[in-house]
Amino acid sequence: MRDFKATPEPSGGKPRKAKLPIFVIQKHHASRLHYDFRLEMEGVLKSWAVPKGPSYDPTVKRLAMMTEDHPYDYAGFEGVIPAGNYGAGNVIIWDNGEWEFIEPGDDPVKALKSGKLAFRLYGKKMFGEWALVKIKGRDGSKGNEWLLLKHRDQYASADVDVTEVAPRSVISNKDVDEVGGERTWESNRKASSGRAPTLADKLAPTKPAPAPRSRAASSRSRSSPARSSRKAAPTPRRRLR
Ligand code: MN
Repeated sequence: MRDFKATPEPSGGKPRKAKLPIFVIQKHHASRLHYDFRLEMEGVLKSWAVPKGPSYDPTVKRLAMMTEDHPYDYAGFEGVIPAGNYGAGNVIIWDNGEWEFIEPGDDPVKALKSGKLAFRLYGKKMFGEWALVKIKGRDGSKGNEWLLLKHRDQYASADVDVTEVAPRSVISNKDVDEVGGERTWESNRKASSGRAPTLADKLAPTKPAPAPRSRAASSRSRSSPARSSRKAAPTPRRRLR
């Protein structure tokens, strides 16, 4: 793998800043599989959902739907968004690293507002120059349609499908359907009111737990302990935060 700290910048001139902002691409199996492309900007993660994921082929333009900003900490999340939350499903960190603004102008926030952002990625799968360009969506679109495209540089390639050859997490090496619920993220928790019920709410209702099983159940457990323990009620859980 290329080490950019040891390799001179190909497009030279501009020295790298001491600390670059981060990017993350999360592969997310919600109702539909997609790739969430996120760039750290203004303390949050500017976010786009890319249904087909990135392509190194500079002739391929991938639709990228701009979605709501995500908290910076979400960049480290890999796990399960519980049922009942927006985007319920599995998430892996498909790629991460740093990004560097290229153009237009010298202010990435202004560039974003103008609807065009060219940048360089220093990831484990994502390298070189890329761009996000806002497009005028078809009638009835929400005005959040962008394209993610690869600029022509030494990394551009029509021969490699990066989502195909490198499908797994850069953190756990798991694919998206292999992550378990050890870590969860409640995407609805920032809602000010009327929070939708989550799986955690269903597992840990506020009403007291039901009384232990009847005598009939315990007598059955004496005759067949193995079967009975398999059917034991789940242990009470703390509310997931
Ligand atoms: Mn998503």
